[in-house]
Amino acid sequence: MVVLDHVDKHYGSLHVLQDINLSIRRGEVVVVIGPSGSGKSTLCRTINRLETIDSGSIMLEGQPLPQEGKQLAKLRADVGMVFQSFNLFAHKTILENVTLGPTKVRKQSKSAAEKKARELLDRVGVGPQADKYPAQLSGGQQQRVAIARALAMEPKVMLFDEPTSALDPEMIKEVLDVMVDLAKQGMTMIVVTHEMGFARTAADRVVFMADGQIVEENTPEEFFTNPRSDRARDFLGKIL
Ligand code: ADP
Ligand code: MG
Repeated sequence: MVVLDHVDKHYGSLHVLQDINLSIRRGEVVVVIGPSGSGKSTLCRTINRLETIDSGSIMLEGQPLPQEGKQLAKLRADVGMVFQSFNLFAHKTILENVTLGPTKVRKQSKSAAEKKARELLDRVGVGPQADKYPAQLSGGQQQRVAIARALAMEPKVMLFDEPTSALDPEMIKEVLDVMVDLAKQGMTMIVVTHEMGFARTAADRVVFMADGQIVEENTPEEFFTNPRSDRARDFLGKIL
């Protein structure tokens, strides 16, 4: 579904992504973990082309990522992204937040988009909030709306960049539960998170990054119980 081949990226003199090679199969859930500043967000942002790369290639379903124009808007719809900050439009209702992309980018009719949006909002447990504004919802509810909004575009892949980091502890589980359901339904997912419970439950593979490199890749079980590299052991020692 997604293949990164010898991907390199610099920010000035900082070599933020160093020879990244990563293949993600359809339906696979990959959790990316690693210290702050290791390039996890940059990696996510290259996959929906919020960032360009210096060399190497990124393919989605065998096609190189488009460079510009309409195809780029379509790519952003195909690769759903959920950030730490929910980024909902404050002056639009929850329903409008979810229908905007499908009507503008996917050219769905308003009625079809609303029907789908209400189904998705029900699915993530915020159906009753559809006509409210983002500020009237809790952080956990807003993040579930952000997930519904990405899903409304019928993405091929979902990227999550620390989706629960900005949430109060009691709201983390309600968001992770939605993500676990999505994983069970076969969504291809790349998830940057330090939520080890999620990684153990839902991940097929853990990718450990440090200093712009993929240092280690393994099943969650092996990675957490038997990290191979010193850097991974050191990192796990700090967070577990
Ligand atoms: P992570 O998500 O793993 O914490 P990031 O991908 O956000 O790491 O950042 C990796 C490194 O790149 C950090 O050193 C960060 O300061 C730097 N960086 C990120 N975005 C930019 C940018 N737009 N310009 C310059 N440096 C950046
Ligand atoms: Mg980050």
